[in-house]
Amino acid sequence: MLPDLARGLRDLVYPNVCVRCQSLLGDSVNDFCPTCTHSITHDPHRTCPRCASTVAEFADVAAGCPRCRDDRFHFDSVIRLGEYDGLLRDCILSMKHRAGETLAECVGLLWAKHQEACFREIGADIVIPVPLHWWRRLRRSYNQSECLASAVADQLKVPHLPSALKRIRPTKSQVVLTAAGRRINMKGAFRASSRANLAGRKVLLVDDVLTTGSTASEAARALKEGGATSVFVAILAHR
Ligand SMILES: [Zn+2]
Ligand SMILES: [Zn+2]
Repeated sequence: MLPDLARGLRDLVYPNVCVRCQSLLGDSVNDFCPTCTHSITHDPHRTCPRCASTVAEFADVAAGCPRCRDDRFHFDSVIRLGEYDGLLRDCILSMKHRAGETLAECVGLLWAKHQEACFREIGADIVIPVPLHWWRRLRRSYNQSECLASAVADQLKVPHLPSALKRIRPTKSQVVLTAAGRRINMKGAFRASSRANLAGRKVLLVDDVLTTGSTASEAARALKEGGATSVFVAILAHR
């Protein structure tokens, strides 16, 4: 969440408008107008409990969906805000730039409030973002997943531990890689910090997007090697 002072200053400098479409908000407590709020948070689809991809209404997903059934994941389950489409996708793309930090804070707050019941049901006792490699973080000046994780942890009143997981080597962009290529690319990319006390912890691992699950799975593997008993993944969108 934006600290109260920063939020107050922003409201003083800018009129109270939707952070996405600039329509006037009146005295709304949200950072988005009702139309943008609905576009971002409305997910009409049934999802796979294992990988959060969209599945058919009556599909049998007890052992996963056709996309993930043959994959082995180190995380326990995935929940999502929505599909990688429309306004949610636009927000995610904007958040990948330096100037996207305020938007990421606002999206994080909206997400945390909207799915609070789901997050609570998971029963995680710490929230950890998927880290960027230090070089990419330096270029972007912030990590959007850390903004999102901070908002979720704040809402749940559980510790947010962004330094508990390290990306220990740079990785290629996953966009052009096949599923097998992504797994190889991410192998050994993360390590749990020796100073983080993860023994016996249930972790909520936060990221913006999940595609094949290879990044989240490697991150979950590192967290479990560090002592975490379970790792639940929360993503804004499934691609
Ligand atoms: Zn709007
Ligand atoms: Zn699945």
